[in-house]
Amino acid sequence: MTQVERHTYDVVVVGAGGAGLRAAIEAREQGLRTAVICKSLFGKAHTVMAEGGIAASMGNANPRDNWQVHFRDTMRGGKFLNNWRMAELHAREAPDRVWELETWGALFDRTKDGRISQRNFGGHEYARLAHVGDRTGLELIRTLQQRIVALQQEDHERSGDYEDRLRVFQECTVTRVLKDGARVSGVFGYVRESGRFFVIEAPAVVLATGGIGKSFKVTSNSWEYTGDGHALALLAGAPLINMEFVQFHPTGMVWPPSVKGILVTESVRGDGGVLRNSDGKRFMFDYIPDVFKEKYAQSEQEADGWYADPDNHRRPPELLPRDEVARAINSEVKAGRCSPHGGVFLDVSTRLPAEEIRRRLPSMHHQFKELADVDITAEPMEVGPTCHYVMGGVEVDPDSAAATGVPGLFAAGEVAGGMHGSNRLGGNSLSDLLVFGRRAGLHAAEYAAELGTDDRPRVSAEQVDTAAAEVLRPFSVEGGEPESRTENPYALHQELQQTMNDLVGIIRRASEMTEALRRLADLRQRSRRAAVEGHRQFNPGWHLAIDLRNMLLVSECVARAALERTESRGGHTRDDYPEMDRRWRKTNLVCELASGDGELAAVDPADGQIRLTRRDMPPIRGDLLALFGKDELLKYLTDEELDT
Ligand code: FAD
Repeated sequence: MTQVERHTYDVVVVGAGGAGLRAAIEAREQGLRTAVICKSLFGKAHTVMAEGGIAASMGNANPRDNWQVHFRDTMRGGKFLNNWRMAELHAREAPDRVWELETWGALFDRTKDGRISQRNFGGHEYARLAHVGDRTGLELIRTLQQRIVALQQEDHERSGDYEDRLRVFQECTVTRVLKDGARVSGVFGYVRESGRFFVIEAPAVVLATGGIGKSFKVTSNSWEYTGDGHALALLAGAPLINMEFVQFHPTGMVWPPSVKGILVTESVRGDGGVLRNSDGKRFMFDYIPDVFKEKYAQSEQEADGWYADPDNHRRPPELLPRDEVARAINSEVKAGRCSPHGGVFLDVSTRLPAEEIRRRLPSMHHQFKELADVDITAEPMEVGPTCHYVMGGVEVDPDSAAATGVPGLFAAGEVAGGMHGSNRLGGNSLSDLLVFGRRAGLHAAEYAAELGTDDRPRVSAEQVDTAAAEVLRPFSVEGGEPESRTENPYALHQELQQTMNDLVGIIRRASEMTEALRRLADLRQRSRRAAVEGHRQFNPGWHLAIDLRNMLLVSECVARAALERTESRGGHTRDDYPEMDRRWRKTNLVCELASGDGELAAVDPADGQIRLTRRDMPPIRGDLLALFGKDELLKYLTDEELDT
């Protein structure tokens, strides 16, 4: 029998970014014993890296803003593939979540008359992003952590134990969601430093593990983002949706090579920065798609007028949704009109006084000075697309964040699918984390509270043994003949990243994705022989060998769904199907584990794999459709949908 450390809680939250912390706070506030687990140090998550701000229609910058306008923008940004109920809840509840943060101590930048300042971002009709310079995520996480500490202090006063009802397990990786029959019974994982195993028994598990970017070579994502939550859900029997939609942020650093992919915040463009090609041309005017023509300026003069007088000017095309800008940059580079290191120029130095740039964009100023020896107050930056965010994720019930088909499993934040449709608007992630993190925590707590003591699912010893054997496998792989030689996890990871970058990247073709699937199958076979040396105490090679299972599963979902969707929409661009096709608008592609029932059988990476099905979304509610003009709806909905 495997040696494990055991704990029992009511709710386990996997992930300590914005979604995880907000979920944990809510579950604890409902009075339930809650554990939070994170791979890295507490406080270090993608959320902390978020720069630009939180989108919420508080109406501080423009009183005409309201939830309906935010909803419209979100649906347009997602090209109407969004789960409309999630988009509605998000737009309605985001302002409350921002004000709540303020009551918990967040210090947002202010307007001159003392209200929370809101800045412009791509695809948002009005200035809508509450921010703290370009370090908004840091303030968000700081505030949520402070709230957790406050709750722990309350518990200490009550019981003498700070961790009585809310405990953080940091530097721990969860490798399996455990089940008792159909229901969730807890999680299995290991402590990264010691390699010791642990099991947390709990009837409710909230996945809040963030993104999948580390499957791609050029990415803004950090080491933790190996699609763990996506894979954990699949392995537990829950479906993923929309996995073909991966956001390539238009502006990542392109030079020097060691920092390629690191994000250059959209705030640079929101605050006036412009994109130019090697001819000095402000090229975005050539790339305004028909669906957005009425909303975007046609000349530099009109675009520049918008910053001071948005009511009487149309928006600059640099502020089109991210998918449009990323494709435009890609086309300029392909046409040879690129910067010396294969990007384009992003210039704020000629647009704002140096002092103002340092005040509004302190992190960007620091980042370019330190990493590229570029002073952004005096010269342009070189930028190009970088894999940034996954719109696809766990299929959830919009109101409760419950994962489809697995009682006790919930998901929120980037790991959940549906909210952003085919493309996420900047700033809509931080608000998504808070709105759905809270909902997930609330409903997980309610679910757990309703179970009687005798009715709680149990963790079986066999499941624990199987989960342990799965993660220990890389220590016992032995090499042999050339065809069964051992494999280096780092080399496999590099090949995977190159495959996804080159063949399932920003522009896709059927032949390349078919080749990607072939290579992924080969990598899966080889990953069975991924071997590591040494022991379980902090062993990064071992950790990567475990993470490979997740990246391979998730990459297959992305490639299969991308091959199936024969149109271009949002974060999915097909060279061989360049048009958006209205018939695809209401179809979700659903990925499930082919082996089916999510029993805790060890996954054989050579066969498992993904079953893909098409599922129609429910029709958009009439009062929400009425927020759009008929002419606009005609661009997205089929005639039959419009008639009903
Ligand atoms: P994360 O914050 O990514 O946290 C995931 C957590 O899960 C981490 O604690 C991690 O350790 C843990 N975890 C993962 N796997 C496991 C496992 N197996 N076991 C245990 N724990 C695990 N969005 C905006 O709206 N506005 C912005 O300005 C903005 N700027 C961004 C800038 C950068 C550089 C990046 C990378 C993203 C930015 N985003 C922005 C996107 C946004 O930050 C992320 O989408 C969001 O923070 C994701 O939050 P989350 O809570 O879902 O997950």
